[in-house]
Amino acid sequence: MLKKDEAVCIRTVDYSETSQIVTFFGRMAGKIRAIAKGSKRPKSPFGGPIEMFSYGPIVFTESRGQRLSVLTEFEQRNIFGGLRSNLFALNGAYLAVELLGSLTTDSDPHPQLFDSFVQFLQNSGQASDRAGLLARLVPFQLDLLREVGTFPVLDHCINCKRAFNNEWGEVYFSSSLNGLVCRDCEASFVDKVKISPKSAVCLNDLKHIDSADEKTLAEIEKALIYHFTEILNHPPRTAKYVLSS
Ligand SMILES: [Zn+2]
Repeated sequence: MLKKDEAVCIRTVDYSETSQIVTFFGRMAGKIRAIAKGSKRPKSPFGGPIEMFSYGPIVFTESRGQRLSVLTEFEQRNIFGGLRSNLFALNGAYLAVELLGSLTTDSDPHPQLFDSFVQFLQNSGQASDRAGLLARLVPFQLDLLREVGTFPVLDHCINCKRAFNNEWGEVYFSSSLNGLVCRDCEASFVDKVKISPKSAVCLNDLKHIDSADEKTLAEIEKALIYHFTEILNHPPRTAKYVLSS
């Protein structure tokens, strides 16, 4: 049966001289892997080889079990033009797709996450520096954690339940506990990173992200990368470009 969706290409692998295997994140279909037959032929049915971050309406066969879908139509639109000319944005986009690909499962729809992802790709193209990128990337990563059902506890100590406020002094984030840990409780837990109260304020209420300085945003991103590293059992491959750019 043929299905229609709107989707963003999040991975391409050459399959043969003329075809590609493409991973899409679809609004209603979730993550799908499809073979794009003839995509690399001079007269490609998709207007040329399928490119990373291309967006548009797709038509594909529903896959059964482990089998790939077959892509029958894809009208590629390059709506995230800002990405290509902006190294900060491109590095952030590669990390976003790596995390999206790793943390979602095939054919599991997340329409809200799709919308957040598209908005992130659009907005990050406008980021003029690393702080601008991180201010967009951090909320997307938190949306991703929320959508896959592992949103961390960011408004109180996960151990003693004390609400976070500016008087905490020292703040820790523990990946295995999935949340903040206060100074009184931190000694009992090995797996944690220390974050500044400023970072905790941003995590507690994301509206502070827009006015946060680069140092604070970088610290939050580092804590999130530590968290994703624990979740995935390895560091995201593309994280180093975001942390060092
Ligand atoms: Zn505590």
